[in-house]
This record gives sequence, structure tokens and C-alpha cells, in this order.
Amino acid sequence: MGKSQFSIQFLGAAKTVTGSKFFLKLGTVGILVDCGIFQGYREIKEKNEDPLPIKIEEIDYVLLTHGHLDHVGYLPKLVKDGFRGKIYASSPTLDLAAIILMDSGKIQEEEALRNSRFHPHDEPEIPIYTAEDAREAIRHFQRVEEGDWIKLSSEISVRFQYIGHILGACFIEIEYQGKRMVFSGDIGRQKEILLKSYKKPEKADLLLIESTYGNRVHPDESGKEALKHAVLENAKRGGTLILPCFAVERAQTMMFLLWELLNKKQIPPIKMVLDSPMAAEVLELFSRFPSWHKISVEDLHALSSQFTIIKKFKESLHSVESDEPKIIIAGSGMLSGGRVLRYLQKYISDPDSTVALTGFQAVGTKGRRLAEGASTLRIYGKDYPVRARIVNFEMFSAHADQNDLLDWLSDIHVAPEKLMLIHGEEEATLELQEILKQKKAWDSYIPEPDEIVEL
Ligand SMILES: [Zn+2]
Repeated sequence: MGKSQFSIQFLGAAKTVTGSKFFLKLGTVGILVDCGIFQGYREIKEKNEDPLPIKIEEIDYVLLTHGHLDHVGYLPKLVKDGFRGKIYASSPTLDLAAIILMDSGKIQEEEALRNSRFHPHDEPEIPIYTAEDAREAIRHFQRVEEGDWIKLSSEISVRFQYIGHILGACFIEIEYQGKRMVFSGDIGRQKEILLKSYKKPEKADLLLIESTYGNRVHPDESGKEALKHAVLENAKRGGTLILPCFAVERAQTMMFLLWELLNKKQIPPIKMVLDSPMAAEVLELFSRFPSWHKISVEDLHALSSQFTIIKKFKESLHSVESDEPKIIIAGSGMLSGGRVLRYLQKYISDPDSTVALTGFQAVGTKGRRLAEGASTLRIYGKDYPVRARIVNFEMFSAHADQNDLLDWLSDIHVAPEKLMLIHGEEEATLELQEILKQKKAWDSYIPEPDEIVEL
């Protein structure tokens, strides 16, 4: 039995949050919406090595909602396996994706090399893709204007619209034979610190909506107040404050808030350091795309000048060695690697210093262990007693909570014929399903991994 000519297949982010890939078959045309890798536990990551259950030649176009790795990270593999079409997204999304894919290619190469060293008698491990493969994928990028309908073919039109979340992020609408299909991608918040609030869809015959926090309402505390408090407490003791951050976009948010607090004299002057080449590159994107966020070019310039921005590794080592009290922004956000680890080696046992976690901490990461009150932390094979003050800012999130999700849907007045809940763990997705039924009388469906749904 052949596949229907009007169908969608869930190649990722079905009953899980990573690996977003949705394959639409519209007549003879194949469209892949997002092309992310699976992240997290080993069993999940291993799925990246399985061949896709579709033929690469069936994909004519790739459309990207935004530049996060779990939405773009599979692109180099797709191109390596033979995809020859164009990859459409907003300009900031493509520039961000380029930074992220080059970094990811390098990491894949390093990981394969490390694993091969651990198992010298096995065949050398081959990375899923290399930095060169990433460079090849970037050659397929095609920029689109936000808010404009563009024709992919005589029968298919698409539109990318602003959705907050991270710089460049959009939801995608596709029109085909009088039907409108809407792909939410990741949805931002009604009130964001750096970004404007999202646009909303007005109609949808088919709607795929993310459900990451379908069962959660974010705490109403001010992140700025919490940060101010941590800085002041730390200043009293004269220690160093370490802010482990995701390079996209938590690092820039922290920089902005620190700059504001300093400007309003709500915190005393202290040396402030951004030690992350990737976060520095992302900050440059903010300057290049002023219409995509709320910070003026002058303010961006002023805030950058308040920070020592470290790119070279050697300078990073000097910064770690210096005893001058400072605020450090460095990756990775969950302490799973990156330059922040050397700062932790020096400061984690210093009772005058503070480590303030700034985002979601996945199970199994060092960040999660610190958040749960671990008394020692293992860094590069050595255990360090935890004596620094540990703070956990749980209010920062780039994802819509349950209220935001309902608000984002509030301009749609006719129930979608098919509503699919994706990009969520089971609990979150089931609760969102229940809430949509109660509050809007909308039925929804939770697709299985690799399931094909006829439209
Ligand atoms: Zn995202």
C-alpha cells in the first residue's frame, strides 16, 4: 500500500521534547518542517544514528522554525545523506543555525575521537557529521521575510511569523488546497525580557502545538530582583559570582539585566566577564537584527562595553587564575562541559563565592546535582566539596507556560480539524490535552514516534 498523498509523519518530538522533524506529503511535494537532533540520555541520542524512515529524495524543501539544536541539528546529516533542496528560515534563524551547526560539527568530531580513544581495539567511531558537513548544509540556506506569504510551488504557499522564544524564531503556516497547516515550533512568553511578544495564528485546519510546559505555570517572581539579590549577597562577602548560561539566549539576558541593575545603581560596580565565544557571537546577532528584539542598538553597544568579553582560550585561563572578585557568565548552562568548569574548580569550594544556576537543569547533569544540594561535585575526574553558595533561578524560561499556550491559541475561533500535541513529555502533554478539552472543547491527538497521520 502506497503512502497517501496528503499526510504528515512525526519523525521526532513525538512524546518527547527533542528531535523535532515533521514530514508533510502534499501531493507530489515533500516538506520537512524542522530538522533537529535528539538530545539527552544515551538511548535517545542513539536515535540520531538510525536511518530516517523516509527516502531523502522525497524531501523537496526544509522549513525551520528556529535555530535551537533540537530543531536544526540534523541538517548536516540530511545533506550528507543526499538532500539537495533549499532550507528556508528567517535571516536571524539561519545565522544562528550556522553558529550552532559549526559548533555541533566540532563537538561530534571530538566526541567520536574521545570514544575511539576509550575503545582502542574497536573500529574508530565515525561522527554523525563533521564541521565540514555543517558547512555544506549552510550552503543550502535560503532567507525568507517574516510575515510575507511566499510560494513554494503553484499550489503551496508558506508564511513565517514572529513567535518570541529566541532571536529569529517563527511559527510556520502552510496553505495547500484551501487548507491551512500551522506548526508552532517553540512558543515564547507573553512577556519576554529581550524579545517582543509573539504573534498568534488566526486559523488552522491542522495545528501542531508544542507542549513542553503544558502542565506548568511559571513562577511570577521577577528574575531581575532575584539576580540583584544574588549579586548583593555575593558582594557582601567579596566573592565571585558564577552564572552558568546557555549561549543562546540566557547569557545575553543575564548581561542585559546586570547592565540595567548597574545603570540604575542597584548593584555596586564589579568586574563583569562574558567568557563564551559562542555567546559573544550570538550577542553580535542581536546588533545585526535590531527589529527582532526590544533592545536599542545604543543600549546593546553600551551593555557590551560594560563586559570583558573573552574569546581566546588562553585569556579564559588567565581570567580563571585572577583573584579579582567578578561576575562570570560562561557555558555550559547545565555544567555538562565548557569553560564554566574551570571556574568551578577554583570557586566551588570557596564559601565567599556563589554559583547561580540560570535555567532548566536536566536529570543527570552536574547542574541538577548542585540544584539538589550535592555536597561534592566531580569535575575532570576529581571531587570538590561544595562550599560556595548555590542559588537556582527557576523563573527564567524561553518557553510558553500553560497560560501562554492558551493565550497563543486565543485568536483561533474555529476548532482545528486536527490538533496534534507535540514536543512534550507525557505528563505535560496529557495535562494540556485535558485543559484544551475543558477550556475550549477542542479534541486533540498525541502522535506516536514515526506515526503517519492521513490528512
Ligand atoms: Zn527552542
